[in-house]
Amino acid sequence: MEARKILICGAGIAGPACAWWLTRYGYQVVIAERATTLRDGGQNVDIKGAGQTVIGRMGLAERIDASNTRERGQKYLDAKGRVIAVYPRGAFGGLTSDFEILRGDLAAILFDATKSLCDYRFGTAVAALEEMADGMVVAFTDGSVETFELVICAEGIGSATRAMVLREQTRFRYLGAYMAFFRIPRRPEDDGWAHTVNGIGGTFITLRPGHDSETTVLLTFIRDEPDAPPGDVADNKALLREALSGRGSIARRVASELDGVGDIYFGPMSQVQASSWAKGRFVLLGDAAYCPTPFTGAGCALALVGAYVLAGEIDRHDDHADAFAAYDALVRPYVEAAQKQLSPTVIRLFHPKSRIGILLTHAAQRLFASGIAQALLLPSDAGRAKRITDDFALPAYADRPQFSEAR
Ligand SMILES: Cc1cc2nc3c(=O)[nH]c(=O)nc-3n(C[C@H](O)[C@H](O)[C@H](O)COP(=O)(O)OP(=O)(O)OC[C@H]3O[C@@H](n4cnc5c(N)ncnc54)[C@H](O)[C@@H]3O)c2cc1C
Repeated sequence: MEARKILICGAGIAGPACAWWLTRYGYQVVIAERATTLRDGGQNVDIKGAGQTVIGRMGLAERIDASNTRERGQKYLDAKGRVIAVYPRGAFGGLTSDFEILRGDLAAILFDATKSLCDYRFGTAVAALEEMADGMVVAFTDGSVETFELVICAEGIGSATRAMVLREQTRFRYLGAYMAFFRIPRRPEDDGWAHTVNGIGGTFITLRPGHDSETTVLLTFIRDEPDAPPGDVADNKALLREALSGRGSIARRVASELDGVGDIYFGPMSQVQASSWAKGRFVLLGDAAYCPTPFTGAGCALALVGAYVLAGEIDRHDDHADAFAAYDALVRPYVEAAQKQLSPTVIRLFHPKSRIGILLTHAAQRLFASGIAQALLLPSDAGRAKRITDDFALPAYADRPQFSEAR
């Protein structure tokens, strides 16, 4: 019998993870990725809780462990680069845990694990699609036309294909800031710690260890309205330069490196809230469906869990509508809980604008990092840095022989 053919749009985290499971279940998978090569940029992502369980079930835990960045902890700095507060790895309120992997390394591991199992088409996107009685007819940007049983859209927050099918059902909750992730050359002062600095006007910069010669950058900055959609690379760099101007020595360093920066993940920090994740044979997955934004630390776990559940439910049901309904019922409560963790108020607290606001933030950082606060907070529930997805009860989908082999 001919294998059932599924199209996945987007070779980020959610797309390849879903492909891994679908190919195990015997489906033929095509992955269309708009970029011409795998996008391996980004800073560290969080794969604790149920996300980690999914990775374990895929048999990838050792490869993930081997890619640990070994970040030593996080230091808060002032605008001149002087240390304000130090959070060693595992400290309450700090960024660094025992599981630190670069998003790009995770993307590469998932790509490696699937590249021989499915048909990757880089530099290709959906130009148009139409549902017919027995499948989705998809016209690609390279001019080819093909029919698929299902189309899974895992194109991330700014998905264009989502807008072709579920525009009316999709709402963006803007949190009041823009964000950018990119890489710059490493310097001697990059000492294996994450370095975080606030700038007057509402910028927040964190530099973290990347690969040998690289430092990764997270730059977020307050902007009242999401009025600047991501443009071409030059436009984005111009906006970043504006945000970095006059914000201290680390900002100056980052601005000075911008000319040499390649891939930038950039745009308004918005949550994707879709009233429906599916229409007919089309379904959303990962950030395209329910981006919580990087500040929740939940995007990657939700993508891995969503991919696992969606593939399992597609395989379990004869009717795709039942599969999509079960996927929605299982995953949506966790998405909503993760998204509620953040609000524009929380984002403003991370981005004090005035000198006084920054001094108050420094005082709070010193207090939290102090031995007394750590001794009080670390053993408590709050100190365990529990994630929303920690409580996710992963279904088993255990009736497939391939599944037990993968454990
Ligand atoms: C380069 C990059 C860096 C990132 N860095 C971080 C980070 O440091 N920290 C963090 O928390 N999150 C980061 N993210 C977001 C993070 O990967 C997601 O929040 C989460 O892992 C969910 O993954 P996803 O696969 O749903 O979306 P994404 O990882 O965003 O992947 C979506 C993929 O779809 C592709 N795509 C977009 N439009 C189309 C189209 N029309 N057709 C085909 N393909 C398309 C994109 O090029 C991308 O490869 C980054 C994303 C990218 C793309």
